[in-house]
Amino acid sequence: QKQFSLFKVTISNMTMNDAISCVINSAKTSQCDSYAFVNADCMNIAYKNQQYRQILNQNKHVFADGSGLRLACKLQRIALKDNVNGTDMFPLLCQQAAEHGVGIFMLGAKTDIANKAAAKMQLRFPQLRICGTHDGYFSAQQTEAVINTINASGAQILLVAMGAPTQERWIAEHSAKLNVGAAIGVGGLFDFYAD
Ligand code: UDP
Repeated sequence: QKQFSLFKVTISNMTMNDAISCVINSAKTSQCDSYAFVNADCMNIAYKNQQYRQILNQNKHVFADGSGLRLACKLQRIALKDNVNGTDMFPLLCQQAAEHGVGIFMLGAKTDIANKAAAKMQLRFPQLRICGTHDGYFSAQQTEAVINTINASGAQILLVAMGAPTQERWIAEHSAKLNVGAAIGVGGLFDFYAD
């Protein structure tokens, strides 16, 4: 079974490798595909927040992140193929992006956090193209300029680290204007890789 519903959220049951291949394929297309990770915390938010749930269900794929999800699935007799979380995916995605010549833009977290995380990955994968970074604390008035910066950067994958459900809402609201092939909500990912 490729997709299943858990508390009205449609989740894709796929391996990490398949998830990464899917993102890389999206990256090479012109229309913007949205992706999200859901952990147990996100499921609690989705249970109470119908808008977030609807946005998640419009994504190309929602990945099952963490042991809480595995347990919830087990109770529903759903066998998850993998734990597809952002922390494990990030270096693997960077490696694949480097091999495929796919550029990444990192949007979100506090000033310089995305830069630090970018520098770490750049060191690990010299061929990787980080096309740009921007913090996640900007006003509605600045949004258009941020989108212009992303589009001018030539990035094909946009990582948005503003926390759930803000990042998912941001992607849904602006995906039509984004010239990237894939936009992914990644939560606290940049903070994790910054130090
Ligand atoms: N963040 C942001 N803009 C905001 C609020 C939060 O960029 O307006 C960033 C924050 O700095 C952190 C991330 O979003 O890097 C949220 O991390 P958290 O671990 O809370 O998200 P979760 O993984 O729980 O969704």
